[in-house]
Amino acid sequence: MTRYTASRTPHHLGPAAWNAILPAQDAAERLEGNATADFAVIGAGFAGLSAARRLTQLAPGARIAVLDAGRIAEGAAGRNSGFMIDLPHELTSEDYAGTGDDRAMIALNRMAQAFGREAVAQYGIDPAFFDPAGKVNGAASAAAHAHIESYARHLASLDEPSEMLDAQAMRELTGSAHYRSGLYTPGTVMLQPAGYVRGLAAGLRRDDVAIFEESPVTGFAREGAAWRIETPQGDLSAGKVILTVNGHLESFGIARDRLMQIFLFATMTPDLDADTLKRLGGQSRWGVTPSDPMGTTMRRIDRGQGGNRIVTRTCAVLRPGMVPRQSDLARAARVMRRKFDQRFAQLAGMEMAHFWAGHLCLSLNGVSVMREIEPGLYAGCVQNGLGTARGTLTGIGAAELACGQASAITRHFTAEPAPKRLPPQPFREIGANAVLRWKEWRAGAE
Ligand SMILES: Cc1cc2nc3c(=O)[nH]c(=O)nc-3n(C[C@H](O)[C@H](O)[C@H](O)COP(=O)(O)OP(=O)(O)OC[C@H]3O[C@@H](n4cnc5c(N)ncnc54)[C@H](O)[C@@H]3O)c2cc1C
Repeated sequence: MTRYTASRTPHHLGPAAWNAILPAQDAAERLEGNATADFAVIGAGFAGLSAARRLTQLAPGARIAVLDAGRIAEGAAGRNSGFMIDLPHELTSEDYAGTGDDRAMIALNRMAQAFGREAVAQYGIDPAFFDPAGKVNGAASAAAHAHIESYARHLASLDEPSEMLDAQAMRELTGSAHYRSGLYTPGTVMLQPAGYVRGLAAGLRRDDVAIFEESPVTGFAREGAAWRIETPQGDLSAGKVILTVNGHLESFGIARDRLMQIFLFATMTPDLDADTLKRLGGQSRWGVTPSDPMGTTMRRIDRGQGGNRIVTRTCAVLRPGMVPRQSDLARAARVMRRKFDQRFAQLAGMEMAHFWAGHLCLSLNGVSVMREIEPGLYAGCVQNGLGTARGTLTGIGAAELACGQASAITRHFTAEPAPKRLPPQPFREIGANAVLRWKEWRAGAE
């Protein structure tokens, strides 16, 4: 009998701030007693909710159940920066350049955006949570400026538009004098990520998808033609299972020693009052990714997205046990305060409202795990830090595989090799964290 047992379930540090700034959700519905479904989706982030939506399209009338260990939007879905990027954005490279066929990846990312856009229209999700505003790649130093110039040339060779902004234009956009230039690209969708995934969940519920929150899956086993999925208070029997738990794939013993379990950190200001907004200047919505992947991401949101706030994201640490340390968050908090003050001298010393850590997962060779694990069991995991788009894609793809459907998405991901094996512990953790700290130092003011 095949059996998969979860060696651990998610552990969060700090609030999922994007969720905290929205109105409270209704009480959670947990899985209790015995239930049955045709399809069970484990994990309700971008991948899991996209898988469930794709199932409603491919198997109308099928009984679909989604299970999550926590509340909707309390995991990485409510802890990220909300950039749903269409262009190559390889975090492990020096300059975001893709390792494979950039045009193919852009086409796929735009399919993810189109899928999200359709869901927003069909489920009546607030358009402020899915804003096709584009983003800027910011440069603070001459070297970074050269970097974005070369990135602009690469985009031109792909026939992709971009616009160079000078220091003055960057100041008018952000209110910050920190950047000497920036490269605007129009294709990124800026999400209020918690609002978007909550909207997906609400739409799915209206379409009769059962969503069980606070129902951590402790294990599942094959029993005859079905899978029996266990949670602390109930069991679900399902014909097919889709795992969309990102790095927690490894907790079920799949892709063991092949996934880099990373925590990133972010902070959010309080809702800024009129006087502070005047001192800040700039536009009410913008997003700036750093020209160096290990630099600092900044974002400004407005009232329609949960308040007039600035979000700062920087620092990364590898924790193979998937539990971030309080000391990791304390260090990141110090660094983020400094980064914020460097960018917004006019607001220096401002108290932040929220600090948090969020879990993501990368593979050394930048591949995902989107395939049939064994008959009736599918995975849409390992988003390589780009889960808003790639999670959407791997969720769609896993649902298509479960329905025996082939598409450009299934063909792309099933053709990828397996994630490369990582060095053994403790060398993995010590080595990776030394490299991350060095890259962070090298990113300098970016
Ligand atoms: C600070 C930060 C900034 C980021 N910025 C961006 C960005 O701007 N753009 C971008 O594209 N990506 C960004 N990311 C990455 C992005 O958040 C992730 O790639 C994305 O959330 C992955 O989506 P997912 O659905 O695969 O996994 P997740 O969102 O992690 O969802 C997996 C779900 O599985 C559930 N789960 C796990 N184990 C179990 C179990 N045993 N039983 C039941 N449920 C379980 C979890 O509770 C979770 O809800 C960022 C991440 C962080 C931390």
